[in-house]
Amino acid sequence: MPENFSLGLVGHPLEHSLSPRIHAAALQAAGLKGEYQLYPVPPLPGGTKALNELFVRMQKGTLNGLNVTIPHKQAVLSWLEHLTPAAKAIGAVNTISLKSEQLAGDNTDAPGFLADLNRLGWSVLRDGNLHALVLGAGGSARAVVYALARSGWNISVAARRLEAAEELVTAIRASAERTRPIRGREPLIALQLDRQSLARLTPVPSLIINATPLGMHPFEDTSPWPEGLSFPSHAAIYDLVYNPPETKFMKDAKRAGLRTANGLGMLIEQAALSFEIWTGCTARRDSMLTAVNAAWAGNI
Ligand code: NAP
Repeated sequence: MPENFSLGLVGHPLEHSLSPRIHAAALQAAGLKGEYQLYPVPPLPGGTKALNELFVRMQKGTLNGLNVTIPHKQAVLSWLEHLTPAAKAIGAVNTISLKSEQLAGDNTDAPGFLADLNRLGWSVLRDGNLHALVLGAGGSARAVVYALARSGWNISVAARRLEAAEELVTAIRASAERTRPIRGREPLIALQLDRQSLARLTPVPSLIINATPLGMHPFEDTSPWPEGLSFPSHAAIYDLVYNPPETKFMKDAKRAGLRTANGLGMLIEQAALSFEIWTGCTARRDSMLTAVNAAWAGNI
């Protein structure tokens, strides 16, 4: 184990990232020395040299772990020598470590989401209607769909570009069906994110997940839920957005009597799982959450 952990996050832009504070808290709580730095690297091809340099540092052991965020979650795949089954199926990596001298990629968004959903323990999800509606078809939607599919959920993926939803469904279908066949209706379907398509959706979803940036700064006044469409009466809402802590989507759903949660729990879980991959030590989720709340109280 290194005496001093050198960890970091590569992406662009990174100014508002909470990760340095979250990981500093985890290091301290685990009694480990180290640092977590931000590496702002522009999209490829401009960022190629900078990414190369970071991976050389990882191979030399002067950098012990990297998180990856937009716009590099897919781009880093070509550098990696080993991928976990989750990273391979999702087609995106958010955690890089060195395993047996090889650069290894993992995706902790998927188990992070699932862990937070289980933590919430919503009763509405225990009545056997495992039908989720995922809004959006980008990188995080892929992780969420992969996690739910492996847990036996039927999933509808709605995106403003139908072809993006179809592509996601095709990509996840093979891996999910291999691991856990789902009986009944077609377990994974794609649809257009619009009022007509969502109004016709059967069975009624018990879980609706926002995996678009709508509701997040600077889109605070927007919601992915189509205007004028009523919410299913017995559904729970999970918004991957965590800043602001209550999005317009969450507020509207709450007003309609639905349970809601933001993505802060997932943010903490995915970070904790990355930390455990790099250090082999248990991550203290409570300390990590306290660090986020302290940062928000100071209005970072
Ligand atoms: P992404 O890969 O860029 O995907 C965004 C998705 O949202 C795409 O399907 C995109 O459609 C869609 N979208 C964007 N603007 C839209 C609009 N105006 N109307 C309808 N759909 C729209 O982003 P991502 O990485 O999946 O992240 C999505 C959100 O999740 C972000 O807010 C991010 O901060 C959050 N997130 C949270 C966590 C967590 O731990 N809580 C983890 C990961 C991500 P197009 O392809 O057509 O543009």
